[in-house]
Amino acid sequence: MEDIAGIDPAVVAEVERETSELLSALIQIDTSNPPGDETRVAEFMQSWFAARGLHGEIAGEPADRASFVLTLDSGKPGPSLLLLAHEDVVPANAPDWQVPPFSGLIRDGYVWGRGAVDIKNLVAAHAVATARIAASGGPAAGRLVYACTADEEEGSIGGARWLVEHRPDLIRTDYVINEGGGHFLERGGRRVYILESGEKGTAQFRLIIKGEAGHASVPLRSGNAVVGAARVVDALISHELPLVIDGSSEELVQLLVDAPALRERLRDPKTARAALHELARRDVQLADMIEPLYGFAFSPTIVHSNSVAVNVYPTRVELSVDCRMLAGHDEQEVLTEVRTALDGVEADWDLEWVGPVVRGNSSPYPSPLSAAIQKTLTEHVPEAELANSHSVGFTDSNWFRAAYPDTIAYNFAPHLVETYDEVTPRYHNVDERILVRDLAFQSLFAERVALELLS
Ligand SMILES: [Zn+2]
Repeated sequence: MEDIAGIDPAVVAEVERETSELLSALIQIDTSNPPGDETRVAEFMQSWFAARGLHGEIAGEPADRASFVLTLDSGKPGPSLLLLAHEDVVPANAPDWQVPPFSGLIRDGYVWGRGAVDIKNLVAAHAVATARIAASGGPAAGRLVYACTADEEEGSIGGARWLVEHRPDLIRTDYVINEGGGHFLERGGRRVYILESGEKGTAQFRLIIKGEAGHASVPLRSGNAVVGAARVVDALISHELPLVIDGSSEELVQLLVDAPALRERLRDPKTARAALHELARRDVQLADMIEPLYGFAFSPTIVHSNSVAVNVYPTRVELSVDCRMLAGHDEQEVLTEVRTALDGVEADWDLEWVGPVVRGNSSPYPSPLSAAIQKTLTEHVPEAELANSHSVGFTDSNWFRAAYPDTIAYNFAPHLVETYDEVTPRYHNVDERILVRDLAFQSLFAERVALELLS
């Protein structure tokens, strides 16, 4: 197992023991969302800290969807940092797993179970980091805040969003470190860590395609809503959407694409689309990481017809489409592109948004927080390089950036041993697990970044 440069192996062993025991206990509290029922984790963490002489607050609504927040205030002026992670997990289908998903089994160097990488690992790693900082006298300056929050995976009504709206006194800080980034890729002899300084928003929509009723034994010359829906799908997926090449992808291309000619073509909007296809043939993982950062895409996912029988033409077909917007873009652009794509298509359609439209957002980069992350990373993983990127999915960082314009929120929880390609397939999947060494590294890293920033 790899050593961690600059950290006493006895300390590493102690943090491995503490974090893995805590993570195992947290996994055993089933917080599958829905329904979540996360208050049990909030209460567990309150007791865990209280046993170490540290006292935090349970907050949130409804009563069974609460979060836990704890503050270490140095009493001296300085910046404030929030270590954030969510308490809920996605459901697990036990028969598909090698181990019971809520066992928290520690075996073969891993902690196993639902939440092991998304993201009870960080609930545990941040807690141990916070307790160790408190035990060594607390931060030298400013304020360290620890929070584990409800309701991230489904709904986002309670949890971080609620705290941001109702309890800025507890939760508002200058800097936030949250789940999402921190994985590393190895390409061309480099080891590149992904820092997510922003994330895409969602503008999911439903197209209602209207048609004429009738007996299906008689061919309908026009007005068959199913045929209209097929034309709509074809037009949407073959429409060339505008390419946006910005700071969310620049450093990934620069550091991870090793062929100079391909790198250049990926940077030019006129050649980037063909270049992405070439990249996908050479390195599909990397292409999958970069392509969503080049703008939005229409991904049709659900088709529903109101026909009551095979022999009846439907009057209505609903086509649901997933669509994610880059930070700085909005749903009006999505609407314009849908209209352009469907211009001239023989179908009678209307659009409605599915759920709330959430715009993507981003924090400035670089910043004092990215400098502290870079410095800490270089100390402990000397060959590491940092690349700025954006999350293509949603995290709670969005609420902080939207509500507190001065707050800088990054997604960063680094692994030491296992790569992006090894870890990310375990998200929301069977046999979710984390290496004990990586778990301890996430904790030691958070501890040292906090001490660096709050010095
Ligand atoms: Zn998560």
